Amino acid sequence: MVFDFTETENQKLMIKSVREWCERYLTFEQVREMDDRGHPFPKEIVEGLCSLGVVMGTVPVEHGGSGIDWLTQGMISEVIGYYDPTIATAAALMAVETGWGFTLDRYSSQTVRENYVKPAINGEKFVGIATTEPGGGSDVAAFRSTAKKDGDEWIINGEKTFISGTEECEKWGGGYWINVRTGPAPPGASHRNMTSFFLPIDAEGVEVQEPYKDAGRMSLSTGGFKMEDVKLPDEYRLGEVGRGFYYTMEGFDNARMMIGASCIGIIQRVIDEAVPYIKERKTFGRPLAKYEAIQFELAELYREMEALKLMTRKTTWMQDTRYREEGTPEKTSEAKTFKPTEVAKWISLIKWKGPSLALEAARKAMIWLGAAGYTKEYVFESAWRGVMSYVVGAEGGLNIQKLVVARELLGRGYVPYK
Ligand SMILES: Cc1cc2nc3c(=O)[nH]c(=O)nc-3n(C[C@H](O)[C@H](O)[C@H](O)COP(=O)(O)OP(=O)(O)OC[C@H]3O[C@@H](n4cnc5c(N)ncnc54)[C@H](O)[C@@H]3O)c2cc1C
Repeated sequence: MVFDFTETENQKLMIKSVREWCERYLTFEQVREMDDRGHPFPKEIVEGLCSLGVVMGTVPVEHGGSGIDWLTQGMISEVIGYYDPTIATAAALMAVETGWGFTLDRYSSQTVRENYVKPAINGEKFVGIATTEPGGGSDVAAFRSTAKKDGDEWIINGEKTFISGTEECEKWGGGYWINVRTGPAPPGASHRNMTSFFLPIDAEGVEVQEPYKDAGRMSLSTGGFKMEDVKLPDEYRLGEVGRGFYYTMEGFDNARMMIGASCIGIIQRVIDEAVPYIKERKTFGRPLAKYEAIQFELAELYREMEALKLMTRKTTWMQDTRYREEGTPEKTSEAKTFKPTEVAKWISLIKWKGPSLALEAARKAMIWLGAAGYTKEYVFESAWRGVMSYVVGAEGGLNIQKLVVARELLGRGYVPYK
């Protein structure tokens, strides 16, 4: 197997145009202002990045996307993480919309595609994912929301919580991928009868709640909504009845890759901001950068960041290989080179390593700079607060990633909760 991650001319061009755009619209001051002002997320940032074709860039051209691969999409996420280390832009546009958006497009009917996926690719609407419920976050199968068939319609009841972008979705229009039970609930948490739907946020019976007061990634809202006797036509169903769990895991995989990739950019930014300071600042007559205690930490951080970068390149390339071989969703069992669980293991490795390393990078840099590092004059504190969202839970907490890795190493018989 040959890995060659030399950037192609096309990748270079795309990355250059994203970088130039970010240098203009995601400057240090602009990102700090976004973080200070809080949600809703600025629509002009969404529209700007969408106009470059990099939001949901992996959606096929015939469905309104750019048809790029995950390797390239990961490189773009890395650039966005560098310019907005609060991670709000990467969270909204790369993880939620791009990771999940591609998967949503794969299982959508033409109606959902035309009315929601395409307008989200253009930056007109917001599409998100709502799996978490009051009774179940990590345990995706512990959901209680239901759908009952009534003629050609489904009647949906339930509640979703800690959902990214609820305020933005309500303001701009759009909706969410939801999972509901379409048959009897077996005892204990089970993904049996889990079916996925697309829920327009303005559907009658949807009540959007006030966003939470989060600790970080302040420019993007996190909220919840209740669904009471919401009627959805059958064409709002995603894929087949009862297959929702598998589609959802695929969505998580794609979103997690984008988070791992964004964290490379955040760590590089932390290094780039910290290095000039530690070279300049003197204590006891010498620059901080002369002390081995700091040099060693910097060298270790750099080593780990480069390891993360290689792992992310490999992982996105594996996912590209998998999609290329699978062809259409109906042929998912035909993967040749990599088993889906093998790819999922690599994805969990980078979703675990990326946020934990970015958090550590921000924490270390704050300490290297002393009091200055604790101010908003540098990116460290906002990066630390933002990245923490991906450590505690967003797209699956760290322990959940470790469980996925261990399951692949030990076999399904050792899954602790079974
Ligand atoms: C900022 C933010 C944005 C979010 N956006 C979305 C969104 O857009 N859509 C959505 O559906 N959800 C979203 N979430 C919710 C996220 O998916 C959940 O936080 C996550 O699934 C964890 O669920 P929980 O918070 O209920 O924690 P719990 O499931 O209660 O877990 C608590 C802690 O225990 C750990 N843990 C759980 N089970 C085990 C185990 N078996 N072994 C060891 N440790 C374990 C977890 O890793 C976690 O650290 C978001 C969360 C945050 C913080």
